[in-house]
Amino acid sequence: MKSKAYIKNTADSSIEYKEVDIYPKDTDVVIKTTHVGLSKGDIFILDNKWNTTCYPAVGTCESVGIVEEVGREAQGFSVGDRVGVGYILGSCMECEYCLKGLYQYCVKQINTELGGWGGLAEKMCVNYRLVVKIPNGLDQTTATILMCYGLTAYSGIKKAQLEKGSTVGVIGFGGLGSLTTKILKAMEMNATVLSHSSEKENIAKESGADDFVLTRDKTWSNSLKNSFDLLINCAPADLDLSVYLDSLKPEGKFCYLGFPFNKQQFSAAQLADYGSRSIYGSYAGSIQEINELLQLTLEKKIVFDTIVSPITHLSKMIDFVKSDESHKRVVLKW
Ligand SMILES: [Zn+2]
Repeated sequence: MKSKAYIKNTADSSIEYKEVDIYPKDTDVVIKTTHVGLSKGDIFILDNKWNTTCYPAVGTCESVGIVEEVGREAQGFSVGDRVGVGYILGSCMECEYCLKGLYQYCVKQINTELGGWGGLAEKMCVNYRLVVKIPNGLDQTTATILMCYGLTAYSGIKKAQLEKGSTVGVIGFGGLGSLTTKILKAMEMNATVLSHSSEKENIAKESGADDFVLTRDKTWSNSLKNSFDLLINCAPADLDLSVYLDSLKPEGKFCYLGFPFNKQQFSAAQLADYGSRSIYGSYAGSIQEINELLQLTLEKKIVFDTIVSPITHLSKMIDFVKSDESHKRVVLKW
């Protein structure tokens, strides 16, 4: 089968648009891509900034489209279905995690960084177990930005097992921070945005944040010791973790969604003393969780801030996303 794709062959090469052959398996659904997300993380992957990218690379990690073909062994889909896929495109389907539907933990997973092609391909071949239907009434642009970053945020929040009304701090208010804040509010949490930029205060409050803390002033934490049930890091910047850990309540948790490039330091005793606090990360999420998130977004009518651009403007939009400090997520339309 023929497809077209935006392909990067090495970290330093420019992106080529060309025709390619694709070989769907009997267990695959062939999706004609209509929408694809583009974030800083996707560009870091295309440029091999984390030294984990397998070339040729065809990002990105969030795509939505229409089912064009259903493999003989693919179940539950029909031609014409509106569907989405995230970062994970295939897995062994027989390890202890795959058998529980936790494909994101399979060591043999195929993802858009490692051997899999994301929505920068006109057609995607994805194992049917990793494809989800977009509920009627939910638009494709919104669904796109939930498929990976939205899911990772939602799964990270769920791992903290919070009660409604818990106090959650969101560190950084770019695209991921804004998305996370809106999901928290839909989950009926109390959300505080922590940012070093005072310009973000109004936007954060307009996005539903209950409070805003300016972290440029080093004394920000003095009045916030033992305040948060959960802190979610959405920024790629280095943090003085000791200050943030001090602001967690006993049994409070710190979740990494955004990753700094450098090693981070903290005193391990801070996790234990007077508090039993913990630090963890969130990596994609389960199929059940993405279905829950799509439903939550539909029911609570969450409106995310997005910029939609034609995919033919890919290079221009990569430059834009690299330099953009706003809270809006970019979605490219095929
Ligand atoms: Zn597996």
